[in-house]
Amino acid sequence: MIKYDVVIIGAGVAGLYAAINLPKDKKVLLINKRQTFKCNTFYAQGGVALARDKADIPVHIEDTLNAGDGLCDAEAVEILSKYSREAIDDLVQRGFLFDKDEDGNLLYTKEAAHSCERILHAGGDATGRYMHHFLLEQNPHAMLSDARVVDLLIKDGKCYGVSVLEHRKTYNIYAQDVIIASGGVGSLYEYHTNAPCISADMQGLCVQKGIELDRMEMLQFHPTVFVNSDNAQKMLLTEALRGEGATIEDENGKRFLFDYDERGELASRDIVSKSIYMYKKKTGMRVYLAFKNFDEEYFEQRFPNICKNLRSLGYNVPHQRVPISPAFHYAIGGIKTHLNGRIPNVENLYAVGEVASTRVHGANRLASNSLLEGLVFAARAVDDILKHSKEKEFVEFDVTQSVMSYKGDKEKKNQLRRIMWENVSILRTKRGLNDAFESINALLNEKIGTLLQFRLLTAREIVKGALSREKSIGVHTIQEEI
Ligand SMILES: Cc1cc2nc3c(=O)[nH]c(=O)nc-3n(C[C@H](O)[C@H](O)[C@H](O)COP(=O)(O)OP(=O)(O)OC[C@H]3O[C@@H](n4cnc5c(N)ncnc54)[C@H](O)[C@@H]3O)c2cc1C
Repeated sequence: MIKYDVVIIGAGVAGLYAAINLPKDKKVLLINKRQTFKCNTFYAQGGVALARDKADIPVHIEDTLNAGDGLCDAEAVEILSKYSREAIDDLVQRGFLFDKDEDGNLLYTKEAAHSCERILHAGGDATGRYMHHFLLEQNPHAMLSDARVVDLLIKDGKCYGVSVLEHRKTYNIYAQDVIIASGGVGSLYEYHTNAPCISADMQGLCVQKGIELDRMEMLQFHPTVFVNSDNAQKMLLTEALRGEGATIEDENGKRFLFDYDERGELASRDIVSKSIYMYKKKTGMRVYLAFKNFDEEYFEQRFPNICKNLRSLGYNVPHQRVPISPAFHYAIGGIKTHLNGRIPNVENLYAVGEVASTRVHGANRLASNSLLEGLVFAARAVDDILKHSKEKEFVEFDVTQSVMSYKGDKEKKNQLRRIMWENVSILRTKRGLNDAFESINALLNEKIGTLLQFRLLTAREIVKGALSREKSIGVHTIQEEI
């Protein structure tokens, strides 16, 4: 029997920060799918938000609550903000290098809907990559990569471990505590910015196990994504670009966002996404991100990766504008948890990071609050585990032998992505949602493998959530049918 103190599912910011907070003498295993860098954390560009000092805590809280449109859990927001400095100071003390000015002062930037400059970044526009690499280096525990958790070993309201699929073989790994840190749901959508392996396995598995998902209809679409490529994962053009002067314009150079919101490019990302979506539909015109307010040298230094990538695609930035569209970006809802990461009704099971719903983001996430959420709530889950750490009984489980996928699942998976993009994205109608619900149920009734089943079960929860929320709020927009 393979036994650990703690098994962590996922090696993004949430899973890794949980790991480095667990003492070295604990037997800990991190499990991740495919190559370790393929997670959303790696792709984060803009930075990590924090309350800069005591005086900024109430302001950061207010900005987060305002973005959340009345649906945030006030206590969760307070925790996020109050412990933000501690989490960032901890990273700095461990040796993480945020970008600084020539005098060695930390460089703070501003993003949409933040009322002051309070976002730290690293490597210019490579915060996630730098942070992920740093956390991996800091992690003293064992890792199992290119493996996939396909079952949770739960009996009588207690979790005893996980089932893992590795090189077509399934086996059980037992643990005193299990932390789910498996990220969002990007691959459910035809167009998205997420890492390819972020495919909602754990959310679907939770549905199977009777574990509650919460606010799944709350999905954030990023407004400025370069979509002229063949991969489902599209290149994101960070919000910080708009925060620092990039403009959004139509084919004729008109900054049409001001027709929708007086803040123009600095309105929150759901407003910008919706405005672009509606304007494109109304006018049939292409929409562009323009960088003419940037000095070339500054642009190259501040956004080195975006600059390099766009130039390699033939765009002479910052002089030339690039075509953009909104795409799926971030799952606000997730596995319902208490504020210490515990999953209600299942002992020894936690969820943290994007996969969890603490309701900290309400109906809309404030930019750059999610890396911070991963840090703050992962540390809280670890505190809770260490507080309750005692030798627990083990129960042995048979290994589940289900068929992971059938021939034909790939086409059905693509069908699901189209259904979600067309009917369950930026603007939703009751009819579209009902059609999606029926189509998903029909797919669930076909002979399909476990992995597709996970995706479909998650997608169905998203549609159910959207159908049960009749009024538009935050990122959820219900449109009258014409
Ligand atoms: C392009 C992009 C830019 C972003 N920019 C920012 C930003 O500037 N600031 C900010 O705050 N946020 C940003 N975000 C959001 C933020 O990056 C994510 O919300 C955050 O990194 C999620 O971290 P996580 O640890 O919860 O999940 P992830 O980093 O996505 O990690 C999930 C892990 O779970 C593993 N996993 C999944 N399923 C299984 C399974 N079945 N079995 C085993 N392992 C599994 C994966 O392999 C991976 O290791 C951005 C997101 C994207 C996509």
